[in-house]
Amino acid sequence: MRVLECLSINPGVFIGRAKLIRCRKYHIEKTQIVEEERESELELLLSAIDLVESDIQNYLDQYQISETDKDIIRIHQLILRDPEVLALLEHELKEKSSSAPQAVLNAFNQIVQQFRELDNDFFAQRAVDYKDVAHRLLGSLLGDTGEDYSAWEPDQIAIVQEISPSQVTNFASFNIPAYCSERGAYNSHASILTRAMNITALSAIPQLLELVEEDETLIIDALNSRLIISPDEATLNQYRELLEKYDRQQEELKGAAGQSARTLSGRRIKLMCNIELPQEIDRILELKADGIGLFRTEFLYMGKKHLPTEEEQYQIYTGIAKKMAPHPVTIRTFDLGGDKLTHLIPSPREENPYLGCRGIRFSLAHKEVFKTQIRAILRASTDSNIKVMFPMINDSEDFLKARAIVLECMKELDGKGETYDTDIDLGVMIEVPSAALCAEELAHVCDFFSIGTNDLVQYTLAVDRNNENLSSQYIQHHPAVINLIRFSINAARKNSIPVSVCGEMASIDEYVPLLIGLGINELSINPTACFRVKNIISHCDDTLDSVIKKLPETITLPEIETLVFKTLAPYYQI
Ligand code: PEP
Ligand code: MG
Repeated sequence: MRVLECLSINPGVFIGRAKLIRCRKYHIEKTQIVEEERESELELLLSAIDLVESDIQNYLDQYQISETDKDIIRIHQLILRDPEVLALLEHELKEKSSSAPQAVLNAFNQIVQQFRELDNDFFAQRAVDYKDVAHRLLGSLLGDTGEDYSAWEPDQIAIVQEISPSQVTNFASFNIPAYCSERGAYNSHASILTRAMNITALSAIPQLLELVEEDETLIIDALNSRLIISPDEATLNQYRELLEKYDRQQEELKGAAGQSARTLSGRRIKLMCNIELPQEIDRILELKADGIGLFRTEFLYMGKKHLPTEEEQYQIYTGIAKKMAPHPVTIRTFDLGGDKLTHLIPSPREENPYLGCRGIRFSLAHKEVFKTQIRAILRASTDSNIKVMFPMINDSEDFLKARAIVLECMKELDGKGETYDTDIDLGVMIEVPSAALCAEELAHVCDFFSIGTNDLVQYTLAVDRNNENLSSQYIQHHPAVINLIRFSINAARKNSIPVSVCGEMASIDEYVPLLIGLGINELSINPTACFRVKNIISHCDDTLDSVIKKLPETITLPEIETLVFKTLAPYYQI
C-alpha cells in the first residue's frame, strides 16, 4: 500500500480500479506534400476544423451546464477560428509543404512552446487548451476516435498525465466518476469543469503513470487530498465505511440544510460560502448558506478577450446580490498579481510576484481598472446587501487609499444621478502579518475583517502556498498563525466590528472547533464543505470555548498539535 499526498480538485471519496490513459502519440504517415496537393490538403484541414467545431457545438447543445462553464468550452471554438492560428496552419501547408496533420502538429507545437516560454501559470493553462484543440484536430484528420469510454466499467478511475477540458467533458458524457492526473492546477479550465460536473478528482501527482498499474485498486480520498494505491484490507474496509457514512451524511445533512448553524450551546455561527464564478450561486442557494463571505472577482477575467466592463460587472454583481438577498454578498476587489497574473493588463515581469504588485497594490496602480470595478459594485449595492473587501491590505494607510477611491467613485455616480448604498460596509482581508499586527488601528477605520488564512500562513511562515515540496511546512495551525488570528479577533471585538475566516482553514474539519473556540462567529467556506462544517459546529459547545480561551500566548507547536488533533478530535470526528 502506498499513500500519496496530492491536490484535491473536487472533494469526495471513490474506490475503484485504475485505467491508464497514456498520452496519444499520433503516427503521421505522410508528412510532406507536393504543390498539386495543397488545395486538397487545405480542404481536408478546413473540413476537420468544421467537424471538430460542430462536435463541440453538439456537446454544448446537449449538456445542461451553466453559461460560464459553456464559455470555457467555447474557447476551443474560438481557437479553431482564430485567424492567427489559421494563418499559421496555411503557412505550414503552403510554405513548408506540410501535410494537413503535420501542419496541425507543427503549428500548435509552436504556439504551445511560446506559451510555455512565458513561464506563467495563466499561459501554461492556455497551452493546455491549444494542445487539446490540436488533439481533436489530429484525431479527426487521422481517423483516430480516441479512447472508447463506452466500454468502461463504472468502477474505473481514469489515470492521465494532464487533464484537458475536452477530456473532462468526455468523462461527464460517459459517467466516468473519478480521475487522477500527474499535472493540474486547481483553477485550470479543466478543474473548474471537473467541479461543475462533480467528478471526484486528484491532481499534482508526479510520475503517476509509472506509480500506478492497470487495474490496480485505488482509493481517491479527495477530502484529505490523498491517493491510496493498492490499499490493504483494513484500509479498504475503513474507506468503505467512510464512504457509506459520507453518503449517508450528505443525505441527512441535505435534509438539515434549511436549519441555521448553531453550536450545542446555542451560539449562532454565520456559515457563508466562498465563490469564484457567478454560476456557483445556484448551488449556494440550495445549501441555504448565510451569504457569500468571499467572492473572488479576479476570476471574471478568465477566458475573456477584454477587460470586463462596468456594465458587465454590474450585471454580475447585481444578479448575485439579488439572488442571495437578504443575505450579504462580500465582493473582494480584484486580487490580481501573484499567482493570478492577468493577460489583459500587461505588467512588468517581477522577480518575486508574491511580494510584488498584487492585491490592493495592483488595484491602486491601475486606478481606472479599480474604479470601473468599484463603480459597478456601488451601483449593484442599491437595494442589495453588498459589502466590499480589499485584499492584501498591510495597514490603515492602504485601507484609507482604497476607501478614498470608493469615495471618488461615489461622487462620480452622484454626478450621473446613479444610486448606491451610501452606507456600504468596507472591510479588509487580514492575510499578511502586518495587517494582523496593525489590526487595532485597522479596526478603527474599517467595517469588518475577514481572515484569509491561505496567504496569512504563507506570509507568516515564509512558505510558498503552491510549493508541493514545502507542503509539510505549510502549517496552518502554527502558533505564529494562531496568535495573529487571536490578535485580529481581539482587535475586532474591542472595536465592535465583525470578523470572519474565509481562508481554507475554515473548511477543514480539524480547524473548525479551534476557530469557533477562538471566538469566530462567521465562517466563509468552500461550498463542498458546507454540510460537514455545519455538522461539526452543531457538536461544538461551551466547554470547547473554555479549553481554547485558556491557551497561553507562548503555546508551542507540539502543544497546539495535541490540542487540535487529540483534545479537539471528538468535536470533529463525528
Ligand atoms: C486567503 O488568502 O486566505 C484567501 C481567502 O484569498 P485567496 O485564497 O484568494 O488568496
Ligand atoms: Mg489571499
